Amino acid sequence: MCPDVIVVGAGPAGLSAAHVLSENGVDFRLFSREQVPGIDKCCGGFVPARMMSEFGIHPFEGCYAINSVRMKFPGMDPVRVDFDFPIGYDVARYRLGTFLLERVGRNKEFVSLETEVSNVVIDNSGCHVTIETPNGRDTEDAEILIDCSGANPVSIRHGYVRGRIPNSEMGYGRQYILERGPNTDEYDNVIDFFYGHEYSPGGYAWLFPRNDIAVIGTGGLVSRVRDDETPLDTYLHRFMDHVVIGEQLRGSHVVSKEAALMPLAGIVTPSFSNRVMLAGDAAGHCSPVSGEGIYYSMVGGACAGEVASLAVDESNFSEKSLIRYEKLWRSRMGSDLKWGAWLQHRLLDGGSSSLGSSLLRSEKYQRIVAEMLIGERSVRSAIIACAPGYLRAKIGL
Ligand SMILES: Cc1cc2nc3c(=O)[nH]c(=O)nc-3n(C[C@H](O)[C@H](O)[C@H](O)COP(=O)(O)OP(=O)(O)OC[C@H]3O[C@@H](n4cnc5c(N)ncnc54)[C@H](O)[C@@H]3O)c2cc1C
Repeated sequence: MCPDVIVVGAGPAGLSAAHVLSENGVDFRLFSREQVPGIDKCCGGFVPARMMSEFGIHPFEGCYAINSVRMKFPGMDPVRVDFDFPIGYDVARYRLGTFLLERVGRNKEFVSLETEVSNVVIDNSGCHVTIETPNGRDTEDAEILIDCSGANPVSIRHGYVRGRIPNSEMGYGRQYILERGPNTDEYDNVIDFFYGHEYSPGGYAWLFPRNDIAVIGTGGLVSRVRDDETPLDTYLHRFMDHVVIGEQLRGSHVVSKEAALMPLAGIVTPSFSNRVMLAGDAAGHCSPVSGEGIYYSMVGGACAGEVASLAVDESNFSEKSLIRYEKLWRSRMGSDLKWGAWLQHRLLDGGSSSLGSSLLRSEKYQRIVAEMLIGERSVRSAIIACAPGYLRAKIGL
């Protein structure tokens, strides 16, 4: 018997969709190519506290509490904003993936790992996918496909929903994973955001610590990274050489290097078509300001799971039925994506000059920016709090 829904990808989006489908008693199959969810995902691993609170998740094994944000803007020394509660957690992606897989519940048996979707055909009779498993090639059919296969999604590669996000709106991040040496101090529970052309080609550099591991990275829009003559590794070494970062990383050594894409486009539409919905990075569900996408992908995946459940209930898999999906995710996170894209150009391009360097020297505004970066405050509310009246009127806030 065919399942009603096929989900592609066991990232935060796919596993959140599977969780909702499972809760609603919908017959689904999830296919993902890795052996352990998240094991080979290039990511800083920072999850904001709101991901935990909104999804009713308590800190799980491997979660490393973060209490402070440090930011450096061009021409200024780093500033640190402390909070008296955990503002989020840093966690290895395989630990997050393992937790989210368990959260799917008893239907996690319908999650097939080491299974790559190599082809997708969608027609009036249903969705037909070709899968490659350790035992060979097979096919699976369903009424609906939820494609959560990341920034370069498989359904788009096979001509469904929309074209690829252009390089001018797609981000590229390069990361080093460092290990703390013996007899060195524990990492401080602070995450770093360093803006300015010294540390990235129009993006920012970050340091996210977790237990004995620290992840440092830098990046920017693909088009910028390509045009830039300075290799990303040079930016990363400059970042590591900064006295504050050097202090945090004292005694650490690089154990691996990695790089990956992240959509930084804001609202990307359409995110659905007949019988298919894109969720997570596949749909551009990622903050254009910070590249934070775990929370947004979980929201997107959960919305797709909800709408797929309704569509199965009503036996209506048409575009008209699935339009509810785009309305739903836009109502839950559209504002952050829209205003995030607006702010991206100002914050990432010009750093302090476009935001106003005097503004960023004020402790009040530093806290507002920090709250926005860690998801304690919406992007819109941060802009309202920081922008002068004439600008708010001009941009319709
Ligand atoms: C360098 C970097 C650092 C980042 N740091 C952070 C951070 O600290 N915090 C944060 O919130 N976000 C961060 N992000 C963004 C975050 O990683 C993504 O937004 C998030 O993982 C998207 O989740 P997803 O489920 O949509 O996709 P993914 O996590 O990419 O999962 C996609 C899944 O699909 C599977 N898949 C792909 N193609 C196929 C196929 N053909 N067949 C079967 N399976 C397939 C993959 O194996 C994978 O399991 C970072 C991104 C990058 C690039």
